[in-house]
Amino acid sequence: LSIAIYGGGQLAKMMAEAGKEQGLSVSFLVEEHEETVCVDGMGTIVRKLPTLSNEELFKQLGEPEVLTVEREQVSHSFLHEFSKLIRVSPNPHAVETCGDRIKERQFLSDLNLPVAPYKVVANKQELTDYFSSHSHKLVIKHPHSGYDGKAQWRVKSLEEIEQLNDDIFSCPLIAEEFVNFDFEASVVGVRDIKGNIQAYPLTKNDHHGGILYSSLSLKPDEINELTPPAQDIISRLLEEFDYVGVLAVELFHTAEGWVINELAPRVHNSGHWTMDGCNHSQFDSHMRAISGLEVEAIESEANAGMVNLLGKGLETIEDKPNLAAHWYGKSIRPLRKVGHVNFARDTRAELERCQKELLLAIYPETFA
Ligand code: AMP
Repeated sequence: LSIAIYGGGQLAKMMAEAGKEQGLSVSFLVEEHEETVCVDGMGTIVRKLPTLSNEELFKQLGEPEVLTVEREQVSHSFLHEFSKLIRVSPNPHAVETCGDRIKERQFLSDLNLPVAPYKVVANKQELTDYFSSHSHKLVIKHPHSGYDGKAQWRVKSLEEIEQLNDDIFSCPLIAEEFVNFDFEASVVGVRDIKGNIQAYPLTKNDHHGGILYSSLSLKPDEINELTPPAQDIISRLLEEFDYVGVLAVELFHTAEGWVINELAPRVHNSGHWTMDGCNHSQFDSHMRAISGLEVEAIESEANAGMVNLLGKGLETIEDKPNLAAHWYGKSIRPLRKVGHVNFARDTRAELERCQKELLLAIYPETFA
């Protein structure tokens, strides 16, 4: 079976590695000027030039049976069109919904799933009116550009709203209430063509400046009152979308329970620990599901975690034992995701100690 992956970054690389282990052949569809260093040498790379028809792209990609995506910021009309030629998994509707925060919020609200109170605002006056009716701290988000906290503005007074640049209103924005969460978490789930669902253990995530630095898996028995509702959320979404493949849900945990922050219709950074902490990584499960195989039960090692390498080389961890380092082949630039380190430990205390030591060794400027 042959799979085309739309995207040429580290997620595409790790999906391709898992696919090759399963005997799949893999090619990559990338934008005209997209960097491909992560996937160079792993299979045919086809640039999505405006002069090429979908049929020509299909041929150049090696006539794959399935197209999948490594990110939601892709041409959704292209996905819809391409799905007339071959199966697109996850389906274009799911990718489009998750790729637009306004559509995503609407979808979640229609399902009565918990999201922060929000309003779509078209201009500064509408934002001012919403703020005045709430007089609360707001987080303003662009509907589709922006990740890792980019294209996001926080305001806690009318003066701060006044100071916002009018240019940010080039399209309607989401203004949502600031959530006073006690921690951030995510849950990764997978659904196969027959509708079987598996959810990975809940993962606790640590962000700084809107960027994920580290994740720790949470054992079901450790927070048993939190895991089932989070896994119910992912199962419900997988079913509602008639989804095939891996889906991730980012969550805030609050005194009232879970609030959904965001959906990612793909493998997710907070699931990277599964490469060294589970019988099947999120990449294995995704490739199995999209190629039509049944997903297998997820079994996980007791305590596993991950620290991202953001603009830092492997030399920052070279004296540390019992780590699995994953390097993406990119050049190092400040805060650029160039790799990650996974670790599994016998006890929770050892796992947390390892996480602390790694963060301190890799980012002394932030964690010392
Ligand atoms: P996002 O790009 O939406 O994933 O946001 C990046 C980070 O900003 C999140 O991981 C949170 O740490 C923070 N954040 C986003 N939305 C909110 C919110 N409504 N309230 C509080 N923090 C938020």
